[in-house]
Amino acid sequence: MRTTTVIIGAGHAGLAMSRRLTERSIDHVVLERGEVANSWRRERWPSLRLLTPNWQTRLPGAAYEGDDPDGFATMPEVIRFLQGFADLVAAPVRTQTAVTGLRTEGPGYEVATTQGVWRCDSVVLASGACNRPVIPDVATAVPPSVAMVTPMSYRGPETLDDRGVLVVGASATGVQLADEIHRSGRPVTLAAGEHVRLPRRYRGRDIFWWMERAGVLDQRHDEVDDLVRARRVPSPQLVGSPQRVTLDLNTLGARGVRIVGRLAGIAGGVAQFSGSLPNICKLADLKLNRLLDTFDAWAGAGGLDGEIDPPQRFAPTAVPSSDLTLDLRRADIGTVVWACGYRPDYSWLHVPVLDRKGRIVHDGGVVRDAPGVYLLGMPFLRRRRSSFISGADDDTRDLADHLQRRLAGRRIGTRLSAST
Ligand SMILES: Cc1cc2nc3c(=O)[nH]c(=O)nc-3n(C[C@H](O)[C@H](O)[C@H](O)COP(=O)(O)OP(=O)(O)OC[C@H]3O[C@@H](n4cnc5c(N)ncnc54)[C@H](O)[C@@H]3O)c2cc1C
Repeated sequence: MRTTTVIIGAGHAGLAMSRRLTERSIDHVVLERGEVANSWRRERWPSLRLLTPNWQTRLPGAAYEGDDPDGFATMPEVIRFLQGFADLVAAPVRTQTAVTGLRTEGPGYEVATTQGVWRCDSVVLASGACNRPVIPDVATAVPPSVAMVTPMSYRGPETLDDRGVLVVGASATGVQLADEIHRSGRPVTLAAGEHVRLPRRYRGRDIFWWMERAGVLDQRHDEVDDLVRARRVPSPQLVGSPQRVTLDLNTLGARGVRIVGRLAGIAGGVAQFSGSLPNICKLADLKLNRLLDTFDAWAGAGGLDGEIDPPQRFAPTAVPSSDLTLDLRRADIGTVVWACGYRPDYSWLHVPVLDRKGRIVHDGGVVRDAPGVYLLGMPFLRRRRSSFISGADDDTRDLADHLQRRLAGRRIGTRLSAST
C-alpha cells in the first residue's frame, strides 16, 4: 500500500494533522492501533476531567460548542468531541492497525503494521507523549504485600483495598488521585518532589484565562533560555471540577492528606523521603508569585485593573510533616500509586532519531536526522501549549506547511533530474 504521508495515532494531534493535510490536498492515512481517541478511552481513569476549561478545547476549524464554556470536560465528553472532529474532517483513519515498525526505504519510509505494510514519503509521529507510566527502580523494593497501581491501571478508589495509600508524585495526576482516594476514606500519604503550584482562579478568572490572554501559552520553543528544562516542567497542580477548587499541597494538607518529601528509596519495607520538601515548596511558591507578578503587570499595562478583581497573593505552602521515613507495614499501607509521569513508547521506531535518553531529536517537531518525519504532541514542541489540545492548532499548521514545502521541493528536484 502506498500513500504520501502516514500519520501514526488518531488522538487529537493526529486528527488535527489529518485536517491540515486534507486542506492541502496531501494524500494520507491515519493509522491507529485502537479507536479514535484511544488514550482517552483506554488509558485514563474514569473520574478524570480535563483541567483545561471547555472554551480551550479547540482544534483546527472546530471548537467546543456546548453551554458550559467554563466547565471541565469528562472523559465521555472528550471522546465525543474527538470522534465528532474525526467525522467532521472525514479523517482517513484505519483503526485496529498498530504500527510495529518504521524504517527508511529509499528516499521515503516503510511503515509495518498489523494490517500490512505502507510505503510513503513522509511520516507524522502523533502516537502520544504518555504511552507508558514512569515507574521508578525503587518499585522493585516494594514488599509483596503492597499492591502497586499506575494512573493507567487505576480505575477508582473502590478498586483498591481498604488500607492506606502512598501516592508518589505531586503533579496534576498525583494531587488528583491523592484527593480522590483520601475522600474515599483511605488514609493517604503524598510524596511530593519538584512541582508546579497554581491556583484554579486568580483575581476572579480561571488561571488558563490568564495564561491564554497574557500570552504565556504561546511562548515559542526558540524564545526560551533552557528548552531542555522547559520541556521537562511537570504538569501543574490543577484539577478541573465543577466547584473550580484549587488543589495544591495546602488544600490537601488541610483535608488530612499527609505530605512528605520525594521518595528517595525503600529498604526493609521502610520508605525513605528526601528532606528537601521545605525548599521545594519555597521554590514552587516563588515561581507562582513570579507568574502572578507577570499577570499583574500585563493586566496593568492593558488597563484591565478596573475590570477584574484586585491582585492577591496566596499563603505560602505549609509543610506539615517532617517525616523522613514511613514503615509501610506498620502504617498499614496497602497500595502504592506511581504518579511519576509518563513517557512515549518508540519500541517500533527503527530510524536513528533518538538521543541517549531515548528522546526524539527534533527542531520544533521537524525530526532532525530523518527528513520527512515530523513529531507532534510533545511538551513544548513548538510552544508552551503544545502538549495541550489547543496546541495542535498552530503546531499542525506550521508542520503541515513545512511538509508541503518539502514535498514541492522534491517534486521540482525529480523533474529537474528527469530533464537533465
Ligand atoms: C492524565 C492526563 C490528563 C490530561 N489532561 C489534559 C487537559 O486537561 N487538557 C489538555 O489540553 N491536555 C491534557 N492532557 C495532555 C494531552 O492532551 C493528552 O496527553 C493527549 O492525549 C495527547 O494527544 P496526542 O494526540 O498527542 O496523543 P494521544 O491522545 O495519546 O494519541 C496517540 C494515539 O496514538 C495511538 N498509538 C500509539 N502508538 C501507536 C502505534 N504503535 N500504532 C498505532 N497507533 C498508535 C494511540 O492509541 C493513541 O490513540 C492530559 C494528559 C494526561 C496523560
